[in-house]
Amino acid sequence: MSDIDEKVIDDNNKDDDGGYERICYLCRRPESKCGSIINIPGGFDICSDCLQKTFDTMPTGFGPMGGDMSKIPGMPNISFVNLDGMQGEIPKRQKLKKKSKEEKKEKEPFDIKSIPAPHKLKAQLDEYVVGQEHAKKAICVAVYNHYKRLASRESSNEVEIEKSNMLMIGPTGSGKTYLVKTLAKLLDVPLAITDATSLTEAGYIGDDIESVVTKLLAAADNDVEKAERGIIFIDEIDKIAKKKEVRSRDVSGESVQQGLLKLLEGSDVEVPVGANSKNAMVPLATVNTDNILFICGGAFPDLEVTVKERLNKQSSMGFNSDLKDKYDKEKNIIEKVTVEDLRNYGMIPEFLGRMPIIYTLQGLDEEMLVRILKEPKNAILKQYKELLLMDEVELVFNDEALSAIAKKALEKETGARALRAVIEEFMLDIMYEIPKDDNIGRVTITKEYIEKTGGPVIEMRGCLAIEAKE
Ligand code: ADP
Repeated sequence: MSDIDEKVIDDNNKDDDGGYERICYLCRRPESKCGSIINIPGGFDICSDCLQKTFDTMPTGFGPMGGDMSKIPGMPNISFVNLDGMQGEIPKRQKLKKKSKEEKKEKEPFDIKSIPAPHKLKAQLDEYVVGQEHAKKAICVAVYNHYKRLASRESSNEVEIEKSNMLMIGPTGSGKTYLVKTLAKLLDVPLAITDATSLTEAGYIGDDIESVVTKLLAAADNDVEKAERGIIFIDEIDKIAKKKEVRSRDVSGESVQQGLLKLLEGSDVEVPVGANSKNAMVPLATVNTDNILFICGGAFPDLEVTVKERLNKQSSMGFNSDLKDKYDKEKNIIEKVTVEDLRNYGMIPEFLGRMPIIYTLQGLDEEMLVRILKEPKNAILKQYKELLLMDEVELVFNDEALSAIAKKALEKETGARALRAVIEEFMLDIMYEIPKDDNIGRVTITKEYIEKTGGPVIEMRGCLAIEAKE
Protein backbone atom coordinates (compact mmCIF):
# COMPACT_ATOMS: atom_id res chain seq x y z
CA MET A 1 0.00 0.00 0.00
CA SER A 2 1.37 3.39 -0.91
CA ASP A 3 2.06 6.13 1.64
CA ILE A 4 -0.77 8.22 0.26
CA ASP A 5 -3.33 5.41 0.63
CA GLU A 6 -2.25 4.88 4.19
CA LYS A 7 -2.63 8.55 4.96
CA VAL A 8 -6.17 8.65 3.54
CA ILE A 9 -7.25 5.72 5.65
CA ASP A 10 -5.60 7.32 8.63
CA ASP A 11 -7.46 10.61 8.05
CA ASN A 12 -10.79 8.84 7.78
CA ASN A 13 -10.38 6.86 10.92
CA LYS A 14 -8.95 9.41 13.25
CA ASP A 15 -11.15 10.64 16.08
CA ASP A 16 -9.94 14.19 16.07
CA ASP A 17 -12.45 15.86 13.77
CA GLY A 18 -11.16 19.40 14.20
CA GLY A 19 -14.17 20.59 16.18
CA TYR A 20 -16.73 19.48 13.59
CA GLU A 21 -19.78 17.42 14.49
CA ARG A 22 -20.36 13.96 13.12
CA ILE A 23 -23.41 13.58 10.91
CA CYS A 24 -25.69 10.56 10.55
CA TYR A 25 -25.17 9.03 7.15
CA LEU A 26 -28.85 8.12 6.81
CA CYS A 27 -30.91 10.98 8.24
CA ARG A 28 -28.17 13.64 7.74
CA ARG A 29 -28.77 15.13 11.19
CA PRO A 30 -25.77 16.34 13.20
CA GLU A 31 -24.76 14.71 16.48
CA SER A 32 -26.26 17.58 18.51
CA LYS A 33 -29.70 16.83 17.06
CA CYS A 34 -29.87 13.07 16.94
CA GLY A 35 -27.97 12.07 20.05
CA SER A 36 -25.29 9.44 20.06
CA ILE A 37 -23.77 8.31 16.80
CA ILE A 38 -22.36 4.87 16.22
CA ASN A 39 -19.52 4.24 13.84
CA ILE A 40 -20.25 1.12 11.81
CA PRO A 41 -17.71 -0.86 9.81
CA GLY A 42 -16.65 1.00 6.70
CA GLY A 43 -16.29 4.35 8.45
CA PHE A 44 -20.00 5.23 8.43
CA ASP A 45 -21.67 7.20 11.19
CA ILE A 46 -25.25 6.23 11.95
CA CYS A 47 -27.43 7.57 14.75
CA SER A 48 -29.13 5.21 17.14
CA ASP A 49 -32.59 6.11 15.78
CA CYS A 50 -31.67 5.11 12.28
CA LEU A 51 -29.94 1.99 13.49
CA GLN A 52 -33.05 1.00 15.42
CA LYS A 53 -35.23 1.70 12.38
CA THR A 54 -32.99 -0.48 10.27
CA PHE A 55 -33.34 -3.34 12.72
CA ASP A 56 -37.12 -2.85 12.92
CA THR A 57 -37.58 -3.07 9.19
CA MET A 58 -35.53 -6.22 8.81
CA PRO A 59 -37.74 -9.27 8.32
CA THR A 60 -36.83 -12.39 10.22
CA GLY A 61 -34.76 -14.66 8.07
CA PHE A 62 -33.08 -11.67 6.39
CA GLY A 63 -30.36 -13.15 4.24
CA PRO A 64 -26.79 -12.10 3.81
CA MET A 65 -26.15 -9.08 1.60
CA GLY A 66 -22.46 -8.97 1.19
CA GLY A 67 -21.69 -8.86 4.92
CA ASP A 68 -20.35 -11.61 7.07
CA MET A 69 -23.14 -12.95 9.35
CA SER A 70 -20.78 -14.69 11.65
CA LYS A 71 -19.36 -11.31 12.69
CA ILE A 72 -22.52 -10.26 14.60
CA PRO A 73 -22.75 -12.44 17.65
CA GLY A 74 -26.23 -13.13 19.00
CA MET A 75 -28.00 -11.99 15.82
CA PRO A 76 -27.76 -14.92 13.49
CA ASN A 77 -30.02 -13.53 10.80
CA ILE A 78 -28.71 -9.97 10.59
CA SER A 79 -25.78 -8.72 8.63
CA PHE A 80 -24.74 -5.30 7.46
CA VAL A 81 -24.76 -4.30 3.85
CA ASN A 82 -21.21 -3.63 2.78
CA LEU A 83 -21.36 0.15 2.37
CA ASP A 84 -17.65 0.44 1.75
CA GLY A 85 -17.86 1.08 -1.94
CA MET A 86 -20.83 3.46 -1.83
CA GLN A 87 -19.41 6.63 -0.42
CA GLY A 88 -16.43 7.70 1.61
CA GLU A 89 -16.33 10.29 4.37
CA ILE A 90 -18.80 13.15 4.35
CA PRO A 91 -16.89 16.09 2.93
CA LYS A 92 -15.69 18.61 5.49
CA ARG A 93 -17.74 21.44 4.04
CA GLN A 94 -20.88 19.49 4.88
CA LYS A 95 -19.95 19.20 8.52
CA LEU A 96 -21.28 21.39 11.25
CA LYS A 97 -19.01 23.08 13.74
CA LYS A 98 -19.44 21.69 17.24
CA LYS A 99 -20.52 24.01 20.00
CA SER A 100 -17.67 24.14 22.46
CA LYS A 101 -18.28 22.62 25.87
CA GLU A 102 -17.80 25.85 27.81
CA GLU A 103 -20.28 27.64 25.58
CA LYS A 104 -22.81 24.90 26.14
CA LYS A 105 -22.67 25.41 29.85
CA GLU A 106 -23.10 29.14 29.77
CA LYS A 107 -23.19 31.30 26.70
CA GLU A 108 -20.65 34.05 26.99
CA PRO A 109 -22.43 37.41 27.07
CA PHE A 110 -21.84 39.57 24.05
CA ASP A 111 -19.23 42.14 24.87
CA ILE A 112 -20.40 45.54 23.69
CA LYS A 113 -16.92 46.94 24.33
CA SER A 114 -15.52 44.81 21.55
CA ILE A 115 -17.57 46.78 19.02
CA PRO A 116 -16.03 50.15 18.23
CA ALA A 117 -18.17 53.26 18.83
CA PRO A 118 -19.76 54.77 15.69
CA HIS A 119 -17.22 57.57 15.35
CA LYS A 120 -14.31 55.17 15.62
CA LEU A 121 -15.89 52.80 13.13
CA LYS A 122 -16.49 55.68 10.74
CA ALA A 123 -12.89 56.84 11.07
CA GLN A 124 -11.79 53.35 10.06
CA LEU A 125 -14.24 53.30 7.17
CA ASP A 126 -12.93 56.69 6.01
CA GLU A 127 -9.60 55.08 5.25
CA TYR A 128 -11.23 52.92 2.61
CA VAL A 129 -14.44 54.59 1.45
CA VAL A 130 -14.27 58.07 -0.02
CA GLY A 131 -17.16 60.53 0.50
CA GLN A 132 -20.66 59.13 1.16
CA GLU A 133 -20.52 60.80 4.58
CA HIS A 134 -24.20 60.40 5.40
CA ALA A 135 -24.28 56.75 4.39
CA LYS A 136 -21.17 55.97 6.44
CA LYS A 137 -22.63 57.69 9.48
CA ALA A 138 -25.95 55.91 9.12
CA ILE A 139 -24.42 52.48 8.68
CA CYS A 140 -22.05 52.91 11.63
CA VAL A 141 -24.82 53.97 13.99
CA ALA A 142 -27.11 51.20 12.77
CA VAL A 143 -24.45 48.54 13.18
CA TYR A 144 -23.52 49.81 16.62
CA ASN A 145 -27.16 49.77 17.68
CA HIS A 146 -27.61 46.32 16.24
CA TYR A 147 -24.83 44.91 18.37
CA LYS A 148 -26.08 46.87 21.37
CA ARG A 149 -29.42 45.18 20.86
CA LEU A 150 -27.64 41.86 20.84
CA ALA A 151 -26.00 42.68 24.15
CA SER A 152 -29.26 43.84 25.70
CA ARG A 153 -31.06 40.66 24.61
CA GLU A 154 -28.40 38.51 26.19
CA SER A 155 -28.61 40.40 29.47
CA SER A 156 -32.43 40.00 29.25
CA ASN A 157 -33.34 43.65 29.64
CA GLU A 158 -37.02 44.54 29.81
CA VAL A 159 -36.94 46.97 26.92
CA GLU A 160 -36.58 45.06 23.73
CA ILE A 161 -34.70 46.96 21.09
CA GLU A 162 -35.94 46.42 17.56
CA LYS A 163 -33.81 45.14 14.75
CA SER A 164 -32.14 47.74 12.56
CA ASN A 165 -32.16 46.25 9.08
CA MET A 166 -31.11 48.73 6.42
CA LEU A 167 -32.05 49.66 2.91
CA MET A 168 -29.31 51.35 0.92
CA ILE A 169 -30.20 53.22 -2.25
CA GLY A 170 -27.51 54.42 -4.64
CA PRO A 171 -26.52 54.25 -8.29
CA THR A 172 -24.39 51.40 -9.56
CA GLY A 173 -20.70 51.65 -8.70
CA SER A 174 -21.27 54.14 -5.89
CA GLY A 175 -19.77 51.80 -3.31
CA LYS A 176 -22.73 49.99 -1.73
CA THR A 177 -21.14 46.56 -1.77
CA TYR A 178 -17.74 48.00 -0.98
CA LEU A 179 -19.09 49.77 2.10
CA VAL A 180 -20.65 46.60 3.50
CA LYS A 181 -17.61 44.48 2.68
CA THR A 182 -15.28 46.91 4.40
CA LEU A 183 -17.55 47.10 7.42
CA ALA A 184 -17.72 43.32 7.81
CA LYS A 185 -13.95 43.14 7.54
CA LEU A 186 -13.48 45.80 10.20
CA LEU A 187 -15.95 44.15 12.55
CA ASP A 188 -14.61 40.69 11.82
CA VAL A 189 -18.06 39.16 11.39
CA PRO A 190 -19.10 36.75 8.66
CA LEU A 191 -20.70 38.35 5.63
CA ALA A 192 -22.77 36.85 2.85
CA ILE A 193 -23.43 38.81 -0.32
CA THR A 194 -26.24 37.66 -2.55
CA ASP A 195 -28.16 38.97 -5.51
CA ALA A 196 -31.90 39.26 -5.16
CA THR A 197 -32.24 38.56 -8.88
CA SER A 198 -31.33 34.90 -8.47
CA LEU A 199 -33.95 34.31 -5.77
CA THR A 200 -37.31 32.79 -6.57
CA GLU A 201 -40.22 31.48 -4.61
CA ALA A 202 -39.56 27.97 -3.27
CA GLY A 203 -40.27 25.31 -5.83
CA TYR A 204 -39.36 27.39 -8.87
CA ILE A 205 -36.13 27.35 -10.81
CA GLY A 206 -33.63 29.65 -9.09
CA ASP A 207 -32.26 29.85 -5.57
CA ASP A 208 -34.58 29.40 -2.63
CA ILE A 209 -34.85 32.47 -0.42
CA GLU A 210 -33.28 30.60 2.46
CA SER A 211 -30.13 30.12 0.39
CA VAL A 212 -28.98 33.53 1.65
CA VAL A 213 -28.64 32.01 5.11
CA THR A 214 -26.81 28.99 3.67
CA LYS A 215 -24.23 31.35 2.21
CA LEU A 216 -23.77 33.06 5.55
CA LEU A 217 -23.29 29.71 7.25
CA ALA A 218 -20.62 28.84 4.71
CA ALA A 219 -18.94 32.21 5.29
CA ALA A 220 -18.90 31.41 9.02
CA ASP A 221 -17.18 28.03 8.43
CA ASN A 222 -20.41 26.17 9.21
CA ASP A 223 -20.33 27.60 12.71
CA VAL A 224 -24.00 28.29 13.48
CA GLU A 225 -23.31 30.60 16.41
CA LYS A 226 -20.92 32.74 14.42
CA ALA A 227 -23.35 32.91 11.51
CA GLU A 228 -26.13 34.05 13.81
CA ARG A 229 -24.21 37.26 14.45
CA GLY A 230 -23.28 37.88 10.85
CA ILE A 231 -24.39 40.28 8.15
CA ILE A 232 -26.34 39.40 5.01
CA PHE A 233 -26.16 41.86 2.15
CA ILE A 234 -28.81 41.44 -0.51
CA ASP A 235 -27.88 43.40 -3.61
CA GLU A 236 -30.16 44.41 -6.49
CA ILE A 237 -33.14 44.50 -4.18
CA ASP A 238 -34.97 46.78 -6.64
CA LYS A 239 -35.20 43.84 -9.05
CA ILE A 240 -37.72 42.15 -6.78
CA ALA A 241 -40.11 45.09 -6.87
CA LYS A 242 -43.70 44.14 -7.63
CA LYS A 243 -44.21 44.04 -11.38
CA LYS A 244 -46.74 46.61 -12.50
CA GLU A 245 -48.73 44.47 -14.91
CA VAL A 246 -48.56 40.81 -14.16
CA ARG A 247 -50.63 38.20 -15.84
CA SER A 248 -48.81 35.19 -14.41
CA ARG A 249 -47.55 34.42 -10.92
CA ASP A 250 -44.82 36.84 -9.90
CA VAL A 251 -42.39 34.20 -8.58
CA SER A 252 -39.27 36.36 -8.59
CA GLY A 253 -40.77 39.66 -7.49
CA GLU A 254 -43.44 40.10 -4.88
CA SER A 255 -43.25 36.47 -3.77
CA VAL A 256 -39.56 36.88 -2.93
CA GLN A 257 -40.35 39.97 -0.87
CA GLN A 258 -42.99 37.94 0.96
CA GLY A 259 -40.52 35.12 1.50
CA LEU A 260 -37.88 37.46 2.86
CA LEU A 261 -40.22 38.85 5.52
CA LYS A 262 -39.81 35.81 7.72
CA LEU A 263 -36.02 36.03 7.58
CA LEU A 264 -35.88 39.78 8.16
CA GLU A 265 -38.09 39.55 11.20
CA GLY A 266 -36.14 36.70 12.74
CA SER A 267 -37.06 33.05 12.64
CA ASP A 268 -35.56 29.58 12.73
CA VAL A 269 -34.69 28.32 9.30
CA GLU A 270 -33.46 24.90 8.37
CA VAL A 271 -30.70 25.27 5.85
CA PRO A 272 -28.64 22.70 3.99
CA VAL A 273 -24.97 22.62 4.97
CA GLY A 274 -22.44 22.77 2.17
CA ALA A 275 -24.98 22.69 -0.66
CA ASN A 276 -27.46 25.00 -2.30
CA SER A 277 -30.57 22.92 -2.05
CA LYS A 278 -32.11 20.63 0.45
CA ASN A 279 -32.01 16.99 -0.48
CA ALA A 280 -31.66 13.65 1.18
CA MET A 281 -27.87 13.64 0.94
CA VAL A 282 -27.25 16.99 2.63
CA PRO A 283 -27.16 17.59 6.38
CA LEU A 284 -29.42 20.34 7.71
CA ALA A 285 -28.68 22.99 10.32
CA THR A 286 -31.10 25.26 12.13
CA VAL A 287 -30.09 28.92 12.03
CA ASN A 288 -31.93 31.62 13.92
CA THR A 289 -32.01 34.86 11.95
CA ASP A 290 -33.02 37.01 14.92
CA ASN A 291 -29.58 38.53 15.36
CA ILE A 292 -28.49 38.55 11.75
CA LEU A 293 -28.22 42.05 10.34
CA PHE A 294 -29.80 42.38 6.92
CA ILE A 295 -28.64 45.12 4.60
CA CYS A 296 -30.41 45.47 1.29
CA GLY A 297 -29.03 47.57 -1.54
CA GLY A 298 -30.29 48.62 -4.89
CA ALA A 299 -29.87 51.22 -7.61
CA PHE A 300 -33.62 51.76 -8.00
CA PRO A 301 -33.37 53.24 -11.50
CA ASP A 302 -36.04 55.83 -12.28
CA LEU A 303 -36.92 56.23 -8.62
CA GLU A 304 -36.06 59.92 -9.11
CA VAL A 305 -39.05 60.26 -11.38
CA THR A 306 -41.37 59.00 -8.65
CA VAL A 307 -39.79 61.29 -6.06
CA LYS A 308 -39.92 64.28 -8.39
CA GLU A 309 -43.54 63.66 -9.25
CA ARG A 310 -44.47 63.59 -5.59
CA LEU A 311 -42.48 66.72 -4.76
CA ASN A 312 -43.87 68.63 -7.71
CA LYS A 313 -47.38 67.62 -6.76
CA GLN A 314 -46.88 68.80 -3.18
CA SER A 315 -45.27 72.09 -4.14
CA SER A 316 -47.89 73.07 -6.69
CA MET A 317 -50.72 73.02 -4.17
CA GLY A 318 -51.90 75.64 -1.68
CA PHE A 319 -50.76 79.18 -0.92
CA ASN A 320 -47.09 78.29 -0.69
CA SER A 321 -47.03 76.73 -4.12
CA ASP A 322 -43.77 76.87 -6.07
CA LEU A 323 -43.04 76.67 -9.73
CA LYS A 324 -44.04 73.32 -11.21
CA ASP A 325 -40.56 72.46 -12.37
CA LYS A 326 -38.77 73.55 -9.19
CA TYR A 327 -37.30 70.09 -8.60
CA ASP A 328 -36.59 69.22 -12.20
CA LYS A 329 -33.03 70.49 -12.11
CA GLU A 330 -32.13 69.47 -8.59
CA LYS A 331 -29.21 67.05 -8.52
CA ASN A 332 -29.49 64.75 -5.55
CA ILE A 333 -33.23 64.40 -5.65
CA ILE A 334 -32.94 60.75 -4.57
CA GLU A 335 -31.97 61.94 -1.07
CA LYS A 336 -35.56 63.02 -0.56
CA VAL A 337 -36.92 59.51 -1.00
CA THR A 338 -39.67 58.37 1.37
CA VAL A 339 -41.26 55.04 2.17
CA GLU A 340 -44.24 56.12 0.11
CA ASP A 341 -42.06 56.51 -3.00
CA LEU A 342 -40.59 53.07 -2.50
CA ARG A 343 -44.09 51.65 -2.17
CA ASN A 344 -45.07 53.24 -5.44
CA TYR A 345 -41.93 51.74 -6.93
CA GLY A 346 -43.19 48.25 -6.09
CA MET A 347 -41.81 47.35 -2.69
CA ILE A 348 -44.52 45.91 -0.47
CA PRO A 349 -45.33 47.75 2.78
CA GLU A 350 -44.58 44.73 4.97
CA PHE A 351 -41.09 44.54 3.50
CA LEU A 352 -40.44 48.25 3.98
CA GLY A 353 -41.78 47.99 7.52
CA ARG A 354 -38.94 45.61 8.34
CA MET A 355 -36.34 48.02 6.96
CA PRO A 356 -36.49 50.88 9.45
CA ILE A 357 -33.29 52.54 8.25
CA ILE A 358 -33.28 53.88 4.71
CA TYR A 359 -30.45 55.99 3.34
CA THR A 360 -28.99 56.97 0.01
CA LEU A 361 -25.55 57.08 -1.56
CA GLN A 362 -24.62 59.86 -3.93
CA GLY A 363 -23.76 59.33 -7.54
CA LEU A 364 -20.03 59.90 -7.96
CA ASP A 365 -18.81 63.07 -9.69
CA GLU A 366 -15.42 63.83 -11.19
CA GLU A 367 -13.91 65.14 -7.99
CA MET A 368 -14.98 62.05 -6.03
CA LEU A 369 -13.61 59.75 -8.70
CA VAL A 370 -10.23 61.46 -8.54
CA ARG A 371 -10.22 61.02 -4.78
CA ILE A 372 -11.17 57.35 -5.15
CA LEU A 373 -8.21 56.94 -7.49
CA LYS A 374 -5.65 58.12 -4.98
CA GLU A 375 -6.98 58.33 -1.41
CA PRO A 376 -8.22 54.93 -0.13
CA LYS A 377 -5.79 52.63 1.65
CA ASN A 378 -5.72 50.27 -1.30
CA ALA A 379 -6.33 52.87 -4.01
CA ILE A 380 -5.83 51.77 -7.61
CA LEU A 381 -2.99 54.21 -8.18
CA LYS A 382 -1.17 52.98 -5.09
CA GLN A 383 -1.48 49.44 -6.42
CA TYR A 384 0.08 50.32 -9.79
CA LYS A 385 2.79 52.36 -8.13
CA GLU A 386 3.65 49.37 -5.98
CA LEU A 387 3.79 47.11 -9.02
CA LEU A 388 6.24 49.36 -10.84
CA LEU A 389 8.28 49.93 -7.71
CA MET A 390 9.17 46.26 -7.87
CA ASP A 391 10.96 47.11 -11.13
CA GLU A 392 12.51 50.10 -9.29
CA VAL A 393 10.56 52.52 -11.43
CA GLU A 394 8.65 55.48 -9.99
CA LEU A 395 5.16 55.99 -11.41
CA VAL A 396 3.70 59.51 -11.28
CA PHE A 397 0.27 60.71 -12.37
CA ASN A 398 -0.12 64.43 -12.82
CA ASP A 399 -3.35 66.10 -11.70
CA GLU A 400 -4.59 66.76 -15.20
CA ALA A 401 -4.16 63.10 -16.06
CA LEU A 402 -6.26 62.12 -13.04
CA SER A 403 -9.09 64.44 -14.13
CA ALA A 404 -8.90 62.98 -17.64
CA ILE A 405 -9.21 59.44 -16.24
CA ALA A 406 -12.19 60.48 -14.11
CA LYS A 407 -13.88 62.11 -17.10
CA LYS A 408 -13.45 58.99 -19.20
CA ALA A 409 -14.84 56.85 -16.37
CA LEU A 410 -17.85 59.13 -15.99
CA GLU A 411 -18.76 58.56 -19.64
CA LYS A 412 -19.14 54.85 -18.97
CA GLU A 413 -21.84 55.53 -16.36
CA THR A 414 -20.87 52.62 -14.12
CA GLY A 415 -19.51 54.73 -11.28
CA ALA A 416 -16.14 53.92 -9.73
CA ARG A 417 -16.18 50.51 -11.35
CA ALA A 418 -15.23 52.13 -14.66
CA LEU A 419 -11.99 53.54 -13.23
CA ARG A 420 -10.22 50.24 -13.28
CA ALA A 421 -11.22 49.58 -16.89
CA VAL A 422 -9.96 52.99 -18.00
CA ILE A 423 -6.63 52.67 -16.22
CA GLU A 424 -6.12 49.11 -17.34
CA GLU A 425 -6.44 50.23 -20.94
CA PHE A 426 -3.38 52.48 -20.96
CA MET A 427 -1.35 50.84 -18.21
CA LEU A 428 -1.06 47.70 -20.29
CA ASP A 429 1.49 49.31 -22.61
CA ILE A 430 3.42 50.83 -19.71
CA MET A 431 3.60 47.52 -17.86
CA TYR A 432 4.75 45.80 -21.04
CA GLU A 433 7.34 48.30 -22.23
CA ILE A 434 8.98 49.57 -19.03
CA PRO A 435 10.64 46.35 -17.84
CA LYS A 436 12.36 46.14 -21.27
CA ASP A 437 14.78 48.94 -20.38
CA ASP A 438 16.61 48.83 -17.07
CA ASN A 439 17.65 52.47 -17.39
CA ILE A 440 14.15 53.88 -16.96
CA GLY A 441 13.79 55.56 -13.57
CA ARG A 442 10.50 57.42 -13.68
CA VAL A 443 7.31 57.42 -15.76
CA THR A 444 4.88 60.32 -15.64
CA ILE A 445 1.38 59.74 -16.98
CA THR A 446 0.06 62.88 -18.65
CA LYS A 447 -3.33 64.10 -19.79
CA GLU A 448 -2.18 63.79 -23.40
CA TYR A 449 -1.36 60.13 -22.91
CA ILE A 450 -4.82 59.40 -21.51
CA GLU A 451 -6.48 61.29 -24.35
CA LYS A 452 -4.23 59.52 -26.83
CA THR A 453 -2.74 62.74 -28.20
CA GLY A 454 0.73 62.20 -26.75
CA GLY A 455 2.86 59.82 -24.71
CA PRO A 456 3.99 59.49 -21.11
CA VAL A 457 7.12 61.33 -19.93
CA ILE A 458 9.93 58.86 -19.43
CA GLU A 459 13.04 59.80 -17.45
CA MET A 460 16.25 57.81 -17.26
CA ARG A 461 18.00 56.88 -14.03
CA GLY A 462 21.10 58.95 -14.89
CA CYS A 463 19.09 62.18 -15.28
CA LEU A 464 17.21 61.50 -12.03
CA ALA A 465 20.48 61.04 -10.16
CA ILE A 466 21.77 64.40 -11.43
CA GLU A 467 18.44 66.03 -10.53
CA ALA A 468 18.66 64.60 -7.03
CA LYS A 469 22.21 65.94 -6.59
CA GLU A 470 21.17 69.43 -7.62
P1 ADP B 1 -22.19 49.08 -6.07
O1 ADP B 1 -22.72 50.36 -5.49
O2 ADP B 1 -22.71 48.87 -7.46
O3 ADP B 1 -22.36 47.92 -5.16
P2 ADP B 1 -19.40 48.64 -5.59
O4 ADP B 1 -19.45 48.77 -4.13
O5 ADP B 1 -19.30 47.26 -6.13
O6 ADP B 1 -20.63 49.36 -6.27
O7 ADP B 1 -18.19 49.53 -6.13
C1 ADP B 1 -17.32 49.12 -7.15
C2 ADP B 1 -15.89 49.45 -6.82
O8 ADP B 1 -15.71 50.85 -6.85
C3 ADP B 1 -15.48 49.02 -5.43
O9 ADP B 1 -14.84 47.78 -5.46
C4 ADP B 1 -14.52 50.10 -4.96
O10 ADP B 1 -13.20 49.76 -5.27
C5 ADP B 1 -14.88 51.30 -5.80
N1 ADP B 1 -15.63 52.34 -5.04
C6 ADP B 1 -16.90 52.69 -5.23
N2 ADP B 1 -17.26 53.70 -4.43
C7 ADP B 1 -16.19 53.98 -3.67
C8 ADP B 1 -15.92 54.93 -2.63
N3 ADP B 1 -16.85 55.78 -2.22
N4 ADP B 1 -14.68 54.95 -2.11
C9 ADP B 1 -13.73 54.10 -2.53
N5 ADP B 1 -13.91 53.19 -3.50
C10 ADP B 1 -15.12 53.11 -4.07
